[in-house]
Amino acid sequence: MFNVKCNEQKVMRDPIHEYIHVDYQVIWDAINSKEFQRLRRIHQMGTSYQVYHTAEHSRFSHSLGVYEIIRRMVYEVKGLDEYLSEYEKITIMLAGLCHDLGHGPFSHFFESVIKPDHEKISAKILLEESDIHSILVKYDNDLPKNIVSVLNHTHSNKVLTRMISSQLDADRMDYLLRDAYFTGTSYGHFDLERILRTLRVVDHQLVIKESGVHSVEDYIMARYHMYWQVYYHPTSRSIEAILYAFFNRLKDLMIEDKTYVDTYPMFKFISNSGEISIQEHYKLDETSCFYGFQCAQDDKDSILSDFAHRILERKLFDYADIQSSNDYESKKQELIQRGYNPEYYLYIDKAEKRPYSPYSEDDSQIMILMPDKTIKELSQVSVIVSAIVFGKQKSENKLFFPKM
Ligand code: ZN
Repeated sequence: MFNVKCNEQKVMRDPIHEYIHVDYQVIWDAINSKEFQRLRRIHQMGTSYQVYHTAEHSRFSHSLGVYEIIRRMVYEVKGLDEYLSEYEKITIMLAGLCHDLGHGPFSHFFESVIKPDHEKISAKILLEESDIHSILVKYDNDLPKNIVSVLNHTHSNKVLTRMISSQLDADRMDYLLRDAYFTGTSYGHFDLERILRTLRVVDHQLVIKESGVHSVEDYIMARYHMYWQVYYHPTSRSIEAILYAFFNRLKDLMIEDKTYVDTYPMFKFISNSGEISIQEHYKLDETSCFYGFQCAQDDKDSILSDFAHRILERKLFDYADIQSSNDYESKKQELIQRGYNPEYYLYIDKAEKRPYSPYSEDDSQIMILMPDKTIKELSQVSVIVSAIVFGKQKSENKLFFPKM
């Protein structure tokens, strides 16, 4: 039976939501699966702890936080409790819990190194032979399939998908609050209580009452500031540039010399053009990566060993804004003269982000319920949001290279 309750409600302390509450046994068992426990070994913010030294929180705590926001939506958003069946409630709570199962180490960095992307890997973990799969099917054979259909937007009830994946979803709301808390910055804070209080279900969609527009504006601004002040911090991007260089060099070495595959078994997928099985994925966490970097410090290849030292000792790349089209070429020549191979030691990174998009093919926009019961898209109602959305787009293109 999918809806077996725990003997008594389980609670876990959490600095963002005060407590995480678990009533259903299937959710408690899913938390205790080995794939979910793996998330403890992956930092939520990738390399940001090298900039904000207290940003040590994990994907594990973020996933519990997303689950808790969804649990509160299910029971507290006016109309949603009656709108969803108990089976749908359990499905969406599990989807919130499991949405990041497929994440690789160092946040989104591994998206550029492994295939397929983390969402597809999450689906594979849920559907194939894994610990969490066998736990879920014990309660209901179709649970894995239904959770995946919420995560990949094919579920027939679109409200479920919007709760976990839209421009105002439980995922974004948790990571903004959590990342702001753990970086010690004030930018990411917004009024979650007010948002939950003004959410409604109307015509099979989630909408915000007009009286909640200011709290949504605050959330959009929080997103804007967190991206530019925290997520796109040039120092984090500098560490990512070195990680990228490390794997780029290792890939070339594995092609030239097959013994590299045996020397670095945790990075074997690199030799397989990034294709990774769920068994290999389970073993790929930040602990195994750091063991790989430790070993690579003494590698006979001086470039690989240099990158390993840089990662472990935080010897960062310098960076400069790209002002003209000649900048890349002139930096490349300068590096060659300094004895560096620019193929590995010069990296371009483009950062661009709008905190909100009024147009989207998947109906992920934020919709506002007006006092006359009509529904309008957020940027038509909010002057602040319309200024951000239709104003000049902020972008930042930088070159990363070794310091002089
Ligand atoms: Zn997430």
